[in-house]
This record gives sequence, structure tokens and C-alpha cells, in this order.
Amino acid sequence: MKYGIDTRCQHLADDNKDEIYGAISYPIYQSATFARDRVGGGSGYDYSRLQNPTREHLEKIVASLEEGIDALAFSTGMAAITALMEIFKPGDHIIIDEDLYGGSVRLFHSINVKNGLTFTSVDLSSVDVEDYIQDNTKAIYAETPTNPMMRVSDLEELSKKAKKHELLLIVDNTFLSPYFQNPLKLGADIVVHSGTKYLGGHNDTLAGFLITNREDIQEQLRFIIKTTGATLAPMDSWLILRGIKTLGVRMERAQENALKIAHFLEKQEYVTRVLYPGLESHPGYELMKKQARGFGSILTFEVDSKERAYHILENVKLIQFAESLGGTETLITYPITQTHADLSKEELDRNGITDRILRLSVGIEGAEDLIADLEAVLK
Ligand SMILES: *Cc1c(COP(=O)(O)O)cnc(C)c1O
Repeated sequence: MKYGIDTRCQHLADDNKDEIYGAISYPIYQSATFARDRVGGGSGYDYSRLQNPTREHLEKIVASLEEGIDALAFSTGMAAITALMEIFKPGDHIIIDEDLYGGSVRLFHSINVKNGLTFTSVDLSSVDVEDYIQDNTKAIYAETPTNPMMRVSDLEELSKKAKKHELLLIVDNTFLSPYFQNPLKLGADIVVHSGTKYLGGHNDTLAGFLITNREDIQEQLRFIIKTTGATLAPMDSWLILRGIKTLGVRMERAQENALKIAHFLEKQEYVTRVLYPGLESHPGYELMKKQARGFGSILTFEVDSKERAYHILENVKLIQFAESLGGTETLITYPITQTHADLSKEELDRNGITDRILRLSVGIEGAEDLIADLEAVLK
């Protein structure tokens, strides 16, 4: 019988313990290379860029959380996406959501384009993606909810269209983590994670993952990771393993806090919009209920002026004004100068990312304290 997701954050179905001493916390195999006892022999581990026991243990856990056949651990989320782009060839075309993580957009438009790929950005939550498919289209690349505008797209619908036209469906699942959403089960071919965020969960290290349930893709990705080399180091693998142990409790608690804060913000005079898919008024609410097990803990809100946005950013005390998300500490981000600083004016305008938009990654502090902090700067 397969374990539930909370159990899979702690245990693998088969070998879970360190074989030698039975250590409950998986050991950190801090070794660059591994000895062989004879020509052609050895432990199955040669060199840590190729295989490392600590990283492999983490990869098995992440594959099991996303219900894939394999997960590959990279040094950062961007390293994972960069490696993923190596499965495409010059001339290939990819349809991407127009409201993606800014770093992904920068990679596609400044590096991948140079290598002969082309991209079309569309709002996957509202258009018919089939209208944008060309003869050379090879993939659809989605995030749901999107960053930072929290639009929700229908993954089952996208996967049906992708399959019909033999395209890959790639989903960056960082915002919900495998705890709340499993794109592979909804028909995606590849899932991307910035492990820096919820999987690690403590704002203390960086990591990235690619997960697939297709053997042909697994084979390509394994070749690319060992060749390009941005694999996750043993110590960082261990930190992410430790983070994952509390993924379930962190996600639940942060989500509870996020909903309370969303309700609070909705009632504030100077707050003009609250974008949180856990609010029944959010256009993606019903779809989220269908395809995810939760709404997550990222929320975006708009205030009445740029001056007010600055005032909030510079005067919150408990909440930290910092980039990133998914940690136990609540962070407030200013997308226009931080995560999305490299987008063109036109791209920002099209998505409504103005100088009045703020993004909160809600952590697991006391909700009353977080609300008091916001109340003080919203007076
Ligand atoms: C942070 C992030 C990334 C990039 O990951 P890094 O670990 O910072 O390299 C990619 N996608 C999303 C949605 C992110 O939030």
C-alpha cells in the first residue's frame, strides 16, 4: 500500500534507513568520489556529480511526493530550468504563460532565444492555447497559480491539448509544492520546483528539481544533468531533506495564516485588491478546489498609491522586506523592483504588475502578530 503524502515526507516505501548504522536522519555523504574494489566493480557510486547517496535519497523522496518515476536535484531552481531547456533544439517554439517567475522569463528571452528557441507568452488561464500552436511548437510551460498575479489555469485541459498536438506540458509547481498539487497526475510531463522555497522551507539554502513520469524524458534529463553538472551538493541535499520532513505542517499552518490575512486585507481602506485563490471571490477558486488540495500561502495585494507601497515595505517590522517565498518567515516582496525587475514595461503593464502591487509569502508566525504588523502600516 502506498503511504499518504504526510508519511511520504518522512519515509520511503522501501529502504529508508542508512544501511550501516541505522541512522534515522539520512547521513551526509560529503565525498566527491567513491572507491572501487575491482575493475568494473564498486558500490554504484562513482563521482558525486553523477551520483551521491544523500542526493539520491532526496531525489527518491521528491519523486515520491510528486508521483514521478524520477526526480533530479539541481543546485538552484534556475539551474533546473536551464538544464531542462537543453531538451529543445534550435528552431523549437514554446508557449509560456505571460505571468511567470521573472527569472524564468529572463532565461527564456535572453539566453534560450540566443540559442535558437522562440517563445510566445499568453495568459494560459484565459486563452485557448490551441490558437497559438505552430508547426514547430514543442511545449507549453505553465505556473499555476502564477507569479505574482495568482491566475489559475486548468492543468487537465492544458494537458489534453498538449497531448493532442504531441507537446510537452511543463509545470513549475513551486507555489503550491507537491503537498497541495501534483501536476503529473493531472497530465503534465515534467514538473519544475525551486526547492529553495517550500521544499527547503527555511530560507537557508537553494535547490531546484525536475520530476517526470516518462522514461524517455528521464533518460534525456539524466544525460543532461551529468553532462552540464549543476547537481545539488550533499549538505544542501540534507538541508532540503530535513525541510521536507515538516512540509505538511508548514503548508497547512501558512495557508491558515494566509487566509486570515487575506480576509483582513480585504477590509482595509487603502487596499484596492486582494489576489488569493483561497478567497471564494477569486476567479480561480473553484478550479483550485478541483485540481489542488489547498490554496497555498502566497497572496498579492494592491494599494492605492506607490507612496503607500513604499511606506509598507519600509515600515513593516515583523514581516521582512525580502525576495523569495515559501519559508517559515513571512516575507513581503515588491515585484516591480525585485522578482520582476527585468521584465519590459510592456510585459509589466500587460500583467498589471504596477508600483502598487505587493506580494506576501506568508509564514508560520502567529497570525495575530502578522496582522498587527500590517495594521500598523496600513493606518
Ligand atoms: C524562485 C523561483 C524559481 C527559481 O528558483 P531559484 O531556486 O531561485 O533558482 C523558479 N520558479 C519559481 C516559481 C520561483 O518562485
